[in-house]
Amino acid sequence: MPFLSRKKKEPSSPPPPTPMHEEVTAQEYLLRLSIVARSSDGLRLPADPTIASAIPGIVEPLSQTTVETIDPLPIEYSEASPAIERFNELQQWVLARRDVSPIGRHCLYVLEMTDALDMTVDTVSCGLLHGDTDTSGYPDYNAIVGGLASHWDELSGELIVRAVVGWGGKGLRGDTDRIGQKLLSSLYQQVLASGFSLGQADQARLPSGGRGSGLSCAHCGFEAGSAAAFYCPKCGMRMSRGA
Ligand SMILES: [Zn+2]
Repeated sequence: MPFLSRKKKEPSSPPPPTPMHEEVTAQEYLLRLSIVARSSDGLRLPADPTIASAIPGIVEPLSQTTVETIDPLPIEYSEASPAIERFNELQQWVLARRDVSPIGRHCLYVLEMTDALDMTVDTVSCGLLHGDTDTSGYPDYNAIVGGLASHWDELSGELIVRAVVGWGGKGLRGDTDRIGQKLLSSLYQQVLASGFSLGQADQARLPSGGRGSGLSCAHCGFEAGSAAAFYCPKCGMRMSRGA
């Protein structure tokens, strides 16, 4: 049959462009997240574990809820992050923080996402400082969470304490910033009033060095960023050195 033996047609040329529609009806979906955190300068406190255990009591008068002390990440979860797009890190975070309360988790989320905390070394004592939670116990976007973050100075072994506050989510209220700043000052003043403070720390934050100094803490396994470290910034114990 002749039509079967017909040669294959050349590829057809693209169809002529259809006239553009002037306007397409569309619904807009928008999510604006706003997260704000503040950290004070560091204050030096004596190199004494009993003083570290007194930190929650310093936060207590300013917190509307029971103060929760959240330890730095165990070494096996040291990559943990609350960032949803980093799935492996998020999985570690969920495992590491499954026993933390909704307020504590919100606090970690806000302060870790903004890098106000470095939970590989920081310990944080926190609570709900202002505002409300929803019926499930999660802080509203305009609620302010925070407290005191601490780590140990690598050279002196002193406890470096900072006031930290944060808020945010699906919205932002005009007066939150002012109240947040006031709470930050109150937390800082509360540390001074405790009588433990030895003065201001030269640098509040750890030198953000890459790991790989080869110097690890015999107690918690933390690897120091600098080979010159004498004390573990995470647990305050003396660093072990190969003799
Ligand atoms: Zn350690």
